[in-house]
Amino acid sequence: MTRVLFATSEVYPLVKTGGLADVSASLPEALCRLGYDVNILLPGYPSAMAAASRTGTSPLAQFSIDGFKVTLVESRLPGTAVTIWLVDCPQLFGREGNPYQNDQGEDWPDNAQRFKLFAEVGARIAMGQAGLAWCPEIVHCNDWQSALLPVFLQAYPERPGTVFTIHNLAYQGLFPQTTFAALGLPETLWRYDQLEFHGQLSFIKGGLVFSDRITTVSPGYAEEIQTPELGYGLDGLLRYRRPQLSGILNGIDTRTWNPEDDQYLDRHYGRDHLKNKRLCQTALLQTMGLAANGAALLGFIGRLVEQKGLDWLLSVMPPLLERGCQFAILGSGEARFEAPLKELARKWPAHVSLKIGYDEALAHRITAGCDLFLMPSRFEPCGLNQMYSLRYGTIPVVHAVGGLRDTVFDPADTGIDHANGFCFKSPDPVSFLEAVERALDCHKNRKAWRRLQENGMAGDYSWTQSAVHYGELYQGILAERQTPIKT
Ligand code: ADP
Repeated sequence: MTRVLFATSEVYPLVKTGGLADVSASLPEALCRLGYDVNILLPGYPSAMAAASRTGTSPLAQFSIDGFKVTLVESRLPGTAVTIWLVDCPQLFGREGNPYQNDQGEDWPDNAQRFKLFAEVGARIAMGQAGLAWCPEIVHCNDWQSALLPVFLQAYPERPGTVFTIHNLAYQGLFPQTTFAALGLPETLWRYDQLEFHGQLSFIKGGLVFSDRITTVSPGYAEEIQTPELGYGLDGLLRYRRPQLSGILNGIDTRTWNPEDDQYLDRHYGRDHLKNKRLCQTALLQTMGLAANGAALLGFIGRLVEQKGLDWLLSVMPPLLERGCQFAILGSGEARFEAPLKELARKWPAHVSLKIGYDEALAHRITAGCDLFLMPSRFEPCGLNQMYSLRYGTIPVVHAVGGLRDTVFDPADTGIDHANGFCFKSPDPVSFLEAVERALDCHKNRKAWRRLQENGMAGDYSWTQSAVHYGELYQGILAERQTPIKT
């Protein structure tokens, strides 16, 4: 039973800003099912502490780091057998709302201190210095918030093996040099091949330089981050670490996202009984105040930011509206995208329904009720919504990047028998529109459409396969660390 400490800054349903939270709940649970002994380490934000106290908590250890009082609190991930350890430090983590930003959308000024302390707690647990009876053989870190953990561990020859997973390379944890000095990190780390990045302190480099293995959340993205276009200045380092870098596709929570048994749907359906999908559409049109006029219904859910291709979406909507298409859009984000979307919804009230905000129930209803699901992302480390859509018989139209190109197959590339959606390859709105138009043409051909739906719904999007791959990765590290490297 390999022991794994899974360090993460988000876990669904305790705290979530994006896909990291979903992965941090589903992967540890899938690993536990495979027989791994996994404990999650999470900062004790108020929402997380409150959720944990409903499940039951007990204090495990207390220490002082950098003058801050820390209590390690044990709980359980709701509805699972997975243990979760919360780093309760009210001075640093006791803030309501977003885990990284204040109400104005500005980063907390002490983020570097907050996540340095988080990593230090992880390192103490990993090295058996936290007074616990449990010590990991593998420490699995995720994104920049836990990236200093492998840095702290590298000083110990008898340390556990380390894995660092990149969920989105665009977020790197960059801080001024003065912060590096203020954190009291060893001077020796201030080097271009360690934590220094163009005169700044880079947290993510800690994970990329010092971990035994680096993974990212799809094979496609693992390739793309080694290019100057998507490497954010770290492509050289990632190419250097290529032998230790791999992509493992995320799974989805197939219990929550199951059209046969979805708690948010009044009607259920499956691959060989799709009839009720139409009733889900009727209900969605009603909920969202759209006219039932038999037109194709196109969905979008996600953060309204440039990464998600919002400008391309805004370009293709007018011609598609002219064609009679309807849109169900859910998300929140930047005002420069929210405003024109609101304007389109105002101008086309029977055709465009826009809900600004975060709404889990509506996300399920849109996924079930739409005909097409649009994901014109500029880049997409993995993407979950295309997998939800595929499972719900809703045909995705995606930009062929990252995890989208690993999961969505276009009839033009594979033939209809192996296709499940539509892809566009050139990064521009013209080719996006062309892909949507091909999808709309196919929508008129009942048999071909049904074939795409069946292919999508037959796919295995569960965590089982991915957890097996992570397990193999862990075993590879453990085998390697038992064999001294010959010089
Ligand atoms: P990212 O992590 O880049 O935001 P992902 O596709 O990996 O994108 O994961 C986003 C997750 O958050 C998905 O589960 C998606 O359904 C969900 N989501 C995003 N925005 C909303 C929203 N406004 N309401 C409900 N769910 C949302």
